Parts: sequence; C-alpha cells; structure tokens
Amino acid sequence: MYRFRLFILLLLTLSLFSCGSIRNHILERQIEKGLSRIDYDMLNDGKLHVVMVGTSGPMHNTERMPSCTAIIAGGELILIDVGSGTVRNADLQNLPLKNISALFITHFHSDHISDLGELNFFSQAMGREKTLEVYGPEGVQDVVDGYHLAYKHDTAYRIAHHGEDIFAARASVPVARTVRLKNPDDAELFFDRNGLKAYAFRVDHSPATPAYGYRFEYNGNVVVLSGDTKKIDNLVKHAKDADIFICEGLRMELVERLSAYAGTTRRSRIAKITTDILDYHIDPVDAGRVAQEAKAGKLVFNHIVPPVTNSFVRRMYLDGIDDVYDGEIVLGEDGMRFTLEPKN
Ligand SMILES: [Zn+2]
Ligand SMILES: [Zn+2]
Repeated sequence: MYRFRLFILLLLTLSLFSCGSIRNHILERQIEKGLSRIDYDMLNDGKLHVVMVGTSGPMHNTERMPSCTAIIAGGELILIDVGSGTVRNADLQNLPLKNISALFITHFHSDHISDLGELNFFSQAMGREKTLEVYGPEGVQDVVDGYHLAYKHDTAYRIAHHGEDIFAARASVPVARTVRLKNPDDAELFFDRNGLKAYAFRVDHSPATPAYGYRFEYNGNVVVLSGDTKKIDNLVKHAKDADIFICEGLRMELVERLSAYAGTTRRSRIAKITTDILDYHIDPVDAGRVAQEAKAGKLVFNHIVPPVTNSFVRRMYLDGIDDVYDGEIVLGEDGMRFTLEPKN
C-alpha cells in the first residue's frame, strides 16, 4: 500500500513538472529573485554603511578577495580600491553598482586597481548613466587612460550591439580626478556631496608614492581607511576619533617565518619578495596602537597578509592586539557590513 501511494505521488509530481506553465512560473520566480536582489534601500536610509567587499592582500586564497571597501550614505556609493574579483564580490553582495558615485584609489599597486576596467563596464551594464569618476594620487590619469585604452574595443562592441541608449558613450569613458594635498601633513577635503565628506591624507608605502588613506564623515560618524602603509604619526592624526578604523595588517612574524622557510627550502624568489614587503606595511599590533592613540571605536582589518585560512593562523594573526587596544577588534571578512546610525 505504501509503495503504491509513493508511486502515485511520483506520477503526480512528474506530471506537474512536465506542465509548461508551472515550470515557467518556477523559472520566472527564480529570475525575479536574481533581478530584484540588489539592495537599494541602503543608499538613502540616513545611515552610513560600510561594506567590506574584499579584505585580502595580494596573495591568492579561497577565503578573501583583494582590497575593496564600499562607503554608502546620502545616496552616494563610493568604492575604495578595486582589486581583482571585487566587482564580482560587490555584485554578489547585492551592492547597487549602477549608483556608484566614484572610485577612490589609495595607490597603484595591482591588487588595488586590477578590476577598474570591469567596474567601469559592469556598473554601466547595470544602468549607470553618469561618468565614472576615479579619484586618486598623482598618476591616476595614467591608470584610467590605460584601462580606457584596454577596453576601447569592448566599449565599441557594446555600443554597436546594444545602442547608445543602453551603453551611452559619455558613461563608457571613466574620468580621472587627481587629488593633491596642499599641505603634506593635512587632510584634503576633495569630495563633498549630500552630506558625505571625504578627505585624503598621506601615508607611507614607499616606493609606492604618493599613497593615501581616506577619511569619511557623515551625520556625525567617522570612518577612516588606512590604505597600505607602515606605521606613521600621520595615520594616528587622521584616524582621530574614528567610529570605525579600517586598517591594513601584515603580521610580520608570520611573513618572516614564511620567508625563512622559503629561504631554507631554496625558494629564493619567494624569500626575497616576502622579506621586501616587511618594510612598507603595518603589523596588526601596531595597527592596534594606532587605533588606541587615535581613540578609534572599532578596529577592522582588511588587506590581511598572510592569508588567514584557519583558526590556528587566525589566532596568531590577532595575538597581542588586545594588549594595546581597548576597543573592538574585527578581522574583516568579504561581505561583512557595518551600519552607523546618524548622530546629528
Ligand atoms: Zn600596496
Ligand atoms: Zn596592497
């Protein structure tokens, strides 16, 4: 009896699924779910949103993509850096990329710029009609021109195939905005729209010079992003009273061990590169010291080096920070979000 019922149920299910209208209904629901997943509400809810789009350094790993952070407030969506794979991440994290206001670049190492062409194309495909503005230190013009040239043929194909109404020529060409500091130790206000203010300040990532950190202010809240840098006083100065201080972190001890191991096993190229990078990044414990001196409310790590892929390395990466910093310590993860309620 039980087998007979099961057989009938199976027959019924099969006949239902073979029925075209039901299949179409299921398919359309899935399509609608895919098309309506983008989170537009965060643009204009009066809050300041921070999304950790990509939190890795340049070493490939399955846990994280390279640098990219989104600041969303007052109808503005700013991306800071756009490492490889981060446009894919931002889309899968449901960010409203068609509303992107601007891209800010901290410096021109490849892990901070390599998805620029993809960002320009994809945000336009999603419906961006304004020109993509790309702000950054001296040199940003070269980077933007280079990507424009590399995508020149792709742009022409899109316009020819879909028409100017869909791929407007004016929105296809990104525009560079060079940010210059009037005084090297002062922060420069260079973006001020709908209550969202952004300042650039100098950090030290030599020979990648100039390199900037960025400070955002909105409705009484402050978010500061270090960019890539060694520990310098200017970082403390401009991270002052940040509600969220997003800092890069390269755990020196772990990279030194990696380098030493590579050296003793005749991987001299890896040993050389991993030794070289020690002098222009900041150790997570020093990031904690900066956060403490700046009285930052929360310290969030991005640009995590070496890759933290298990709890053992995670413990070593974070070891000792709470000895020097009283606030909350967060190891960034791709897709992590923070929301700050307005204070004013
Ligand atoms: Zn760098
Ligand atoms: Zn980097």
